[in-house]
Amino acid sequence: MGDIWEVLEGARTFLISSHVNPDGDAIGSQIALYSFLSDLGKVVSVVNSHPVPSVYRFLPNVEVFRIESTENTDIGSGACTRWEDVEVAIILDCGELKRVGENLAAKIRPRRGIINIDHHLSNRYFGTYNLVDADACATAELIFHLMEFGGIEIGRDRAMCLYTAILTDTGCFRFRNATAEAHRISARLIQEGVRPDVVAELVYEVTPYGKARLLGMALETLRLSLDGKLAYMWVTQEMHRQTGTGSEDTDGFIDYIRSLKDIEVAIFFRETDKGDIKVSLRSKSDLDVNQIAATFGGGGHQAAAGCNISEPLDEAIDTVVEAVARRYRSLSKLAKRI
Ligand code: 5GP
Ligand code: MN
Repeated sequence: MGDIWEVLEGARTFLISSHVNPDGDAIGSQIALYSFLSDLGKVVSVVNSHPVPSVYRFLPNVEVFRIESTENTDIGSGACTRWEDVEVAIILDCGELKRVGENLAAKIRPRRGIINIDHHLSNRYFGTYNLVDADACATAELIFHLMEFGGIEIGRDRAMCLYTAILTDTGCFRFRNATAEAHRISARLIQEGVRPDVVAELVYEVTPYGKARLLGMALETLRLSLDGKLAYMWVTQEMHRQTGTGSEDTDGFIDYIRSLKDIEVAIFFRETDKGDIKVSLRSKSDLDVNQIAATFGGGGHQAAAGCNISEPLDEAIDTVVEAVARRYRSLSKLAKRI
């Protein structure tokens, strides 16, 4: 923590990026970090490959985000307008640099190095400096500790960003990462002025009509396998077209699969607009879905992971279901032997 703090103090121009299809942890952590670095007089650009999902647009300072594209050759306002001006790039919530998106990753060439702040088990320590803790409930937990270390006042706006990040990454404090520390930090954030009822309503009670219809279609595809231990469903581009929805509208769909009785593994498949398949995996047992995702070039955590597969939907489903089944059977065999 101390070495990272020194780098923050010693540099003036920063770039903050996070992963493609950013989630609440990515967005909340980025804004909180942007906000306190700016207060310290730093010049900070916040750039992602994809826009902020509409559900998180209520967060204070959300207008700081810029989207990388082949057209924009500069990265922001202020003194740090060019990619080559960046002294330090801070990558949040990414197990590896290419998670920011390939085009953006190629432009990140900071003069003084990369700070990697993350909580993924699959993290590759790609930074010049690494603040990685797989026991942290969210990247926001690490940002919170960084601010504590530097004696930075949190304040209600930053508290709201960090709270939203922790709330969403712990699945409303329901997952295994809803640790005592997650609750302790959240209590502090509430003391700073966060209203849990207001945040929960803004995040979870804003379902657009099209998303509700898409969920209906997705649930029609729900299948069971492995004697009811594995459940999966999918969404196609055609379903998106019929409901007028996009990738962010499938957020949370996997939780419906997870919630099935006796399920140990849940998988959600989404056909992307590029034609490949985004796979989300969740485990409710000891089965490590991070390992399975890694065999397809993805990663994540033991209980929540993802990957992309360049196959038609039906083939991708067969491939992943078979991989999970193989892993599941070898684990049960092992359990019987013990
Ligand atoms: P989700 O299924 O919600 O997209 O992601 C679950 C977890 O796996 C998240 O922590 C996410 O960062 C990680 N993850 C999802 N897709 C990928 C991927 O393609 N590569 C890597 N390394 N991690 C992923
Ligand atoms: Mn996270």
